[in-house]
This record gives sequence, C-alpha cells and structure tokens, in this order.
Amino acid sequence: MTRYLFNPPAPFSLPIQGSESRFPVGRIFCVGRNYHAHAIEMGAPVDKTTMQPFYFIKDAASAVESGATLPYPPGTRDFQHEMELVVALGAGGFRVTEADAGGMIFGYACGLDMTRRDLQLVARAAGRPWDLAKNFENAAVLSAIVPNGRVLGQGAIGLQVNGAPRQGADLGQMIWSIPELIADLSRYYHLRPGDLLFTGTPEGVGAVVPGDRITGRIEGVGEITLTIGDAE
Ligand code: MN
Repeated sequence: MTRYLFNPPAPFSLPIQGSESRFPVGRIFCVGRNYHAHAIEMGAPVDKTTMQPFYFIKDAASAVESGATLPYPPGTRDFQHEMELVVALGAGGFRVTEADAGGMIFGYACGLDMTRRDLQLVARAAGRPWDLAKNFENAAVLSAIVPNGRVLGQGAIGLQVNGAPRQGADLGQMIWSIPELIADLSRYYHLRPGDLLFTGTPEGVGAVVPGDRITGRIEGVGEITLTIGDAE
C-alpha cells in the first residue's frame, strides 16, 4: 500500500440519475465560442469554414455540485454565468472519427462555466492564458449525470437569475456538434472515461452578485441551481 505524506483528496464525482454509483470526473475540457450569437456578443465572431474550435481546461478539484452556495470569488468585479450542456464520456478514444465519437458518450449534465469576465478580457487582450478567469475554486458547477448514449442535436437550453430569463437558445445552434468536438479533441488528447466536455454557452451571459440565485435547464437533461454568497 502506498504511503502518502498526507491524505490525497477523494476524486470529484457526480451522482448518476437512476444509479447507486457515482461518476468519477477526470479532466474537464471546455470549448470556447460554440454559438454564433455568443461569439458576436464577445466581439469575436466565428467562421467555421476557416476556424477550428479552441479549448481550455477546468481542474476537477475546482468543480462543485448543483445546489451549492458559492462565496463570490476573489479578484473580480464581474463574475458571470455561462449555461452549458456537458457531455460525460464513458469510454476513451484517440483520433476517433465523428462516426465513432458518439459511442464514447455515457450521458449528459447541465453545467455552469462560471467566469471572472474582467480577468478574461484582460488576459485575452494581452494574449495571456485564461486560467485566472476560468479555472478557480467552484468555477465548474455540475448537475447529476443523465445516462443517454445518443447524440443530442437539439433541445432548449436556458438560464434564469432570480426568476428572470437571461439565456435561452437551442442546442441545434451549436457551431460544432458533439461528435465534431469529441473527434477534434481526440486529435490532441487521449480521451478517457470520466472526462467531461463543456460544449459552450449561448448568448445572454451576464454578471451575478451576492444573493443571486441561478437556475438553468436543458430539455431532456435536467436542471442546475446555484446561489451566490457573500465575498470571502
Ligand atoms: Mn463557456
């Protein structure tokens, strides 16, 4: 038995709807700008004929389950919500075809890609990495995983803050489809069971403040909730 200097933390895991088992989360990949209207609101339109998807990663140690109350994070004055469909992989793959990518899907979750937008815009302008903006404690919020091996190509996705609609779109508006994203990502990584993929947010991202309650919903997947607490 390995002796560690101190006890390593347990892996982050998510409930699986209809199962006693939990889903152990590996890496959390996120795609940027995957809905045209959001790309335009960020001032960076996408032309699929000449551009490739791009990615960033959130640490699974920074993930938190739906229903949490987060302290308003340090270092920002513009903490924003991004409602996203999350794909959970049940099988690995490397250099897979789009036709084979669907077979790697275990199921889906609702996700909130919480973002320190002010830090992201500073990093973007300076050509620096996005980690401070995207990869910090509690920045990946995830619902239970719903087992579903089919490719989700349509369905309503929406988010409300304190009951007022902020984001609303359809999964069919994604620029790169789920099989296209999995196949593309597998050109760069040996994907593994347990890996998650945030598939991008539609338009309507915006700031939240202490006391706000976020509720998100994706047709055929479920709901996610998050409460913003006071700053630490
Ligand atoms: Mn996002």
